[in-house]
Amino acid sequence: MTRILDRPIAELLPEIDGFIARGATVYIKWTCPKCGERVIADEPNVYNALGYRHTERQDGTPCDGLYLGTVFGLAVIASGASLDGGQRGHS
Ligand SMILES: [Zn+2]
Repeated sequence: MTRILDRPIAELLPEIDGFIARGATVYIKWTCPKCGERVIADEPNVYNALGYRHTERQDGTPCDGLYLGTVFGLAVIASGASLDGGQRGHS
């Protein structure tokens, strides 16, 4: 029952910073407007406001679809510490 819930990048950026601060690796995800595949960015922990290009489809063929939208999903990979609880509240 996992639904893809993409959200505006303005909402995601503080979240991305939070994940990075906790030592996680975050990849931007989007839906390619050309072929409709879900794409995960190659480069972690950054958001590129100039748009995202889908270079290669899952079957290995080139796509080259450019996404210029502002709605993204996140793939968060925890490294070490749990993302829930723990390191909280240094005010
Ligand atoms: Zn594509």
